[in-house]
Amino acid sequence: MDFELSSEQELLVQQVRRFVTEEILPVEATLDPDAAELPAADQARLIEKTKAMGLYGLDIPAEFGGPEIDITTRTLLAIEMAQHRAGLYVPCYGTFGGAGLAQLYEANADQKERYLFPTLRGEKRGFFGLTEPSGGSDPARAIKTRAVRDGNGWRLTGTKIFISNADKSEYGIVFARTDPAKGREGITCFIVDTDMEGFRVRRIVHTLRSAHYATELEFDGCFVPDGNVLGEVNKGFAIANDRLSRQRIPYAAGCIGVAIAANRMAIEWAKQRETFGARLSDRQAIQWMLVDNEIDIRTSRYFTLEAAEKARKREPFRTEAAMAKLIASEAGGRVVDRSMQIFGGMGMTKDLPLERWYREMRIRRVGEGPSEVQRMVIAREIISGSLG
Ligand SMILES: Cc1cc2nc3c(=O)[nH]c(=O)nc-3n(C[C@H](O)[C@H](O)[C@H](O)COP(=O)(O)OP(=O)(O)OC[C@H]3O[C@@H](n4cnc5c(N)ncnc54)[C@H](O)[C@@H]3O)c2cc1C
Repeated sequence: MDFELSSEQELLVQQVRRFVTEEILPVEATLDPDAAELPAADQARLIEKTKAMGLYGLDIPAEFGGPEIDITTRTLLAIEMAQHRAGLYVPCYGTFGGAGLAQLYEANADQKERYLFPTLRGEKRGFFGLTEPSGGSDPARAIKTRAVRDGNGWRLTGTKIFISNADKSEYGIVFARTDPAKGREGITCFIVDTDMEGFRVRRIVHTLRSAHYATELEFDGCFVPDGNVLGEVNKGFAIANDRLSRQRIPYAAGCIGVAIAANRMAIEWAKQRETFGARLSDRQAIQWMLVDNEIDIRTSRYFTLEAAEKARKREPFRTEAAMAKLIASEAGGRVVDRSMQIFGGMGMTKDLPLERWYREMRIRRVGEGPSEVQRMVIAREIISGSLG
């Protein structure tokens, strides 16, 4: 596969790289090390800039007003956008806009009016409610939240945990069991307004992510009208699965961006820090760490761009996306860890972004399908012989 950038891709990459260096890094330097938002005035100012660059709403399909940029180019840009302290979970602090919940592109016209368009305009936010206390790796079996027919709608009863941003959302996508006799064919996807009666959300625990609480959702006979069923009854699991697979490519790209930034810092530091009468970069032990960083970054990049290329060409990319997510999240953790080691004590402080990347990168081996689940996806393909 040819990974040479076209001149247009090169131009876009340079444009975003400049934006991160000249616009994001100076403002970020004035913020708390755990900040997840820009001051409102900076946010508004920088959104105007990304709009002027023609890059606002990058992930939004062109038919809904996003720029016409293919997934491989978007992956290259996502690698750039992550190269700052908050970049893993809030790349460029959201100033490039975002698609929100991609499942809503499949919504009917009325649901698009009520949820998708307000989300794209930045007026509403949504959460993704799949994981339950009974487990998130195997949701098709674990989902116990029940939805029972009641007149012209459904009554939901059950609990979800570890749901991000439900405490800051106006609505969310919730997966509930509508046919207990069936596994993945018995799950339906509902759009739930957070002010619906019988719905409660509470913050349960502060996670390794800066400024992030995992929430617990409680459905106590919460009534959801038929008009809020997303897709078809009993076909909700395919909607969840599709998102999980697609999300893995930008998820991997974020890990690569952070690994590149950490490695760049480690190289610069190793070239100037002297111990025992010589620079760190003259020591073979340190050189080998930098070599391993380079190999981890390149491997992650190749696998992730391969997955993006397959998706761009509309070829099956499930296995490649699983490989990309697996490799980039594990390699990203190693690169940040080695880079911290090269910095010694400084690497442990909040003065540098490394400690935040170290914490947040650790989540990437669990979020969006843990490493073990990615290996299961890949193993299935190997054993079934469908890898060719
Ligand atoms: C910060 C954060 C944010 C999150 N945000 C959301 C969100 O917005 N929405 C949402 O729905 N969920 C969210 N989650 C939940 C996340 O998706 C789940 O934690 C994840 O899917 C794993 O599920 P679990 O925690 O129940 O682990 P379990 O399913 O109990 O698994 C535990 C461990 O065992 C491993 N394992 C499981 N089965 C096997 C097997 N067969 N072989 C080998 N190993 C196995 C798993 O990989 C995992 O490491 C979030 C989690 C975190 C930490």
